[in-house]
Amino acid sequence: MMQYFSTNRKSAHVNFREATLKGQPDDKGLYFPEQIPTLSDDFWRDFSTKSKEQIAFEVIKPFVGKTIDEETLFRICAETVNFDFPLVKITENVSTLELFHGATLAFKDVGARFMSRCLRYFSREKSEKTIVIVATSGDTGGAVANGFYDVEGVEVVILYPQGKVSEVQELQLTTLGKNISALEVKGNFDDCQTLTKTALADSEVKQKVFLTSANSINVARWLPQQFYYFYALQQWQIQNPKSKIQNPVICVPSGNFGNICAGILAHISGLPCEKFIAATNANDVIPKFLESGKMEQKSSVPTLSNAMDVANPSNFVRILEIFGQDYLNLKEKMEAVSISDDTTAETMREVFQKYEYVLDPHGAVGFYALEKYLEKNPVQKGFFLETAHPVKFDSVEKIVGTHGETPESVKDLFSRPKQSVEIEANYEDLKEILLQKCF
Ligand SMILES: *Cc1c(COP(=O)(O)O)cnc(C)c1O
Repeated sequence: MMQYFSTNRKSAHVNFREATLKGQPDDKGLYFPEQIPTLSDDFWRDFSTKSKEQIAFEVIKPFVGKTIDEETLFRICAETVNFDFPLVKITENVSTLELFHGATLAFKDVGARFMSRCLRYFSREKSEKTIVIVATSGDTGGAVANGFYDVEGVEVVILYPQGKVSEVQELQLTTLGKNISALEVKGNFDDCQTLTKTALADSEVKQKVFLTSANSINVARWLPQQFYYFYALQQWQIQNPKSKIQNPVICVPSGNFGNICAGILAHISGLPCEKFIAATNANDVIPKFLESGKMEQKSSVPTLSNAMDVANPSNFVRILEIFGQDYLNLKEKMEAVSISDDTTAETMREVFQKYEYVLDPHGAVGFYALEKYLEKNPVQKGFFLETAHPVKFDSVEKIVGTHGETPESVKDLFSRPKQSVEIEANYEDLKEILLQKCF
């Protein structure tokens, strides 16, 4: 049975259920699986014709162990991946894996949907109410809110910084209603995060409810992000039939490095891949680290690709764990580059002019990083992850002149009333709201 240890190595080992419910070990490390499973020959034999839900089920099964029965786990997988993950060719050598066809138009839908369903399953016998609290700078909140929407016995409280998320993002957070409450905090994202942490440490609240966070470090959000790397490979093998031996270069726009870490995990389990490229914006702690071996302490700087404005990527310790803390091993498999806002905007304009493809700022960082890599390595080909739909970012229309076709789900949002509660960035306001929800 799969156990998880803490990367700080002080807390006890736990199974998938406890790791999901706890989120983070007490020693403030991250949960990491004791063994990384190897995908069997059986898995690969009929890989090209396997369904999405079957792949998801087989990939995640060893990580979940017996904590969820097979029938339920299969259903959770099916509900998690009930949308498309197309691999779309943009140039001769560069394709994009579009991860924006889910409910809130970003890849975070996958992790959020999977985690919400696991949490519902694990808390079904609890007598107290479950409250999920989450701070968001934009994309996370919507994905979590949607993932938990109408899930029985679970209340969701989302904190977002007033005026600092895009129009579509705000609508995605505030128009659901039912078990979802959106709190509009008069402050910035750091204030939201501090409030969330204070709540999670408040024993008075925790006596009355089961309070948990839907943080991106939770194993139930991190691990299912492996799924779509396999969906990409299925399509890659059809689109590049003669290059069976030629494996893709995979480029991942990265902030907290959870998404790319899931891809690397899939690779260690058997997913063929030539190289991983971590594409970051001006927040360049990891590219600098790969150059010098030194991790700098910096604060984050705001950029166009704001979901990646992260100074200390929390999931990077998991990547180091995968490579046994061996920085040279890691360098062989992963490169990291930092792309400026000017280059990002220029890339968005150019790709639209040349190929009529609208990139969002995060995808543009990925496109540029991949194209530069392929210029140096001309026999290779690859794809980057388009992590969100361009309509989610107000900057796209300004830079490109269009955000492309507006998805139906967005048109629908504009017809719904916004429901949010404004709070000051002080804990007493939040506490009152949490205590009201206990009853
Ligand atoms: C969260 C997010 C990222 C960064 O993903 P990490 O797993 O934190 O590296 C990139 N792009 C978009 C659109 C996001 O929402």
